[in-house]
Amino acid sequence: MRETEKIWMNGELVAWDDARIHVGTHGLHYGSGVFEGIRAYETPNGSAVFRLTDHLKRLDNSARLLGMDLPFSVEDLRLASHELIAVNGLPECYLRPIAFFGYGELGVSAVGNPVDIVIMSWPWGAYLGEDGLKKGIRAKISSWQRIGPNVIPHVAKATGVYLNSMLAVTEANRAGYDEAILLTAEGYVADGSGENVFIVKDGVIYTPDLSTSILPGITRDEAFMCGTAAEVTPLREVDDVELGVGPVTLELQAAYIDTVRGRSERWAQWLEYAERTPAEA
Ligand code: PMP
Repeated sequence: MRETEKIWMNGELVAWDDARIHVGTHGLHYGSGVFEGIRAYETPNGSAVFRLTDHLKRLDNSARLLGMDLPFSVEDLRLASHELIAVNGLPECYLRPIAFFGYGELGVSAVGNPVDIVIMSWPWGAYLGEDGLKKGIRAKISSWQRIGPNVIPHVAKATGVYLNSMLAVTEANRAGYDEAILLTAEGYVADGSGENVFIVKDGVIYTPDLSTSILPGITRDEAFMCGTAAEVTPLREVDDVELGVGPVTLELQAAYIDTVRGRSERWAQWLEYAERTPAEA
């Protein structure tokens, strides 16, 4: 990770090295946190964050699902994100907001623990590598099952859930693959360790729905992964079965990149440009 100058922490901008927490922090012991992964892009009209408000609303919703009251509103966090991009002088960066139960009691129950909230920003290139974006990546079907919705609410982007993703991607990496695909308890495709999965069959795009019970597995056809970090990445191989890189994937990838780089009118509303302060205008 490349260090940057400041980190936004509980309402203040602190030096990178000073953004510290106590080892007794509840979230460290029990994974009781929620987070987001967001990208800001440099566009012809300045820095723009892709669907910033939607990401922050998801953070807020994830927190509610864990019974955590965020001490800042979505609007506060939106302004803080833009402020951080500006002070770190990084119009193109990855943004990582994270909220977690802090230092107080260390019983498993989080009742009464304070909530800390932090936003980091740093430059992060292609999540699955530049080569992966162009030529596609090789994925392995994980021997780890995706955590079920009655284990932890799966629409919450919760830190503890990512132990499941970490085990899966580490297993895949150790076996020489770029990424893991996790299946549900019933054996249906759920998602990647950090991306959603899509296939293209006869020109139609399929992805598991939220209940993850419609997709009858991966076929020999075009497939890709997508996520804010991973953008649109072709999936050229699953478990040593060659899928290749297909035209629909490349078209979608180009459309996505045009959108986030401010070159598309169609989805222009998804880019949240920094608002100029009266002093700058
Ligand atoms: N699935 C998982 C498990 C993820 O971690 C992510 C990344 N947040 C995604 C899917 C893709 O979500 P998004 O497009 O919001 O980045």
